[in-house]
Amino acid sequence: MDIPENNSELQHSSLRDSEVLPGTLYLVATPIGNLGDITQRAISVLDQVDIVAAEDTRHSQRLLSHLGIKTKLTSYHEHNEDKVTPKLLDALEAGRSIALISDAGTPLISDPGYRLVTQAHDREAKVVPIPGVCAAIAALSAVGLATDSFAFEGFPPAKQGARLHFFEQFVARRQTMIFYVSCHRIIETLQDMQTIFGETRRVGFAREITKTFETIKRMELSALINFVEEDENQRKGEIVLVVEGDLTVQETGMQIDHYLSILLKELPVKQSVSLVVKLTGENKNDIYKRALELKES
Ligand code: SAM
Repeated sequence: MDIPENNSELQHSSLRDSEVLPGTLYLVATPIGNLGDITQRAISVLDQVDIVAAEDTRHSQRLLSHLGIKTKLTSYHEHNEDKVTPKLLDALEAGRSIALISDAGTPLISDPGYRLVTQAHDREAKVVPIPGVCAAIAALSAVGLATDSFAFEGFPPAKQGARLHFFEQFVARRQTMIFYVSCHRIIETLQDMQTIFGETRRVGFAREITKTFETIKRMELSALINFVEEDENQRKGEIVLVVEGDLTVQETGMQIDHYLSILLKELPVKQSVSLVVKLTGENKNDIYKRALELKES
């Protein structure tokens, strides 16, 4: 972080950030356990906006009361999104400022709000993120698996058949994968992961992040299953699983070069390109261009 040499830039930016603009939708991240994990900007925005739209108003009222904030709460969740979205958009158009929060963490990340945000853009309303905690990113940063390329995949399906099918699509993926998992299905989910990814695949287990009984571990799948089976406390609370990618899978670019270098020695360019398109499913023109480059070099 760039720390300004004197205080004036810092003061200027914090003053500016605390000004809530009319007709603006703020996406405000809230804590996922430890109430200390709320930013000063979040508090300031929640205090100043006209409306706070919250997934569970009773739950969020406790947070606002804890912060000494009296802003009016309105309910916004997956079952009333259809009805409430147009009303909130109208309020924005009328110049009111709105903060959207979810029960915990960053709105829209496995939480409601997508419809509101996308339609706010359609109507050219100003949308401002007030960033903060997200369980997926907190887990990823702490479990000791590759962070250079990762994919957030949300909740796996509840039923086993669909869940196995869901994991299958990731079997040859090199990227680190992040899943939100219900504690009631943690053993079955880990077992299904083992079926698909194998028992030696490393998995990060981040449970009750920022709370008193936080667990942060990284283990091979078979060891993690034993760990969770042996300690019933590990089957309680909120859990994020971070699965290591298959590091033996070559990145697409490397894979294309690898195939082309073999095929071009034996076949004409056109035929080599057509085979690589079939093997990788990648764009024909891109592969053709790359084949010519490799041929020239
Ligand atoms: N929007 C939230 C965020 O930014 O992380 C996620 C909401 S999603 C409905 C709830 C899931 O997030 C939980 O089932 C769990 O997988 C994960 N989660 C939330 N809080 C957590 C915590 N303190 N520790 C571990 N996982 C957590």
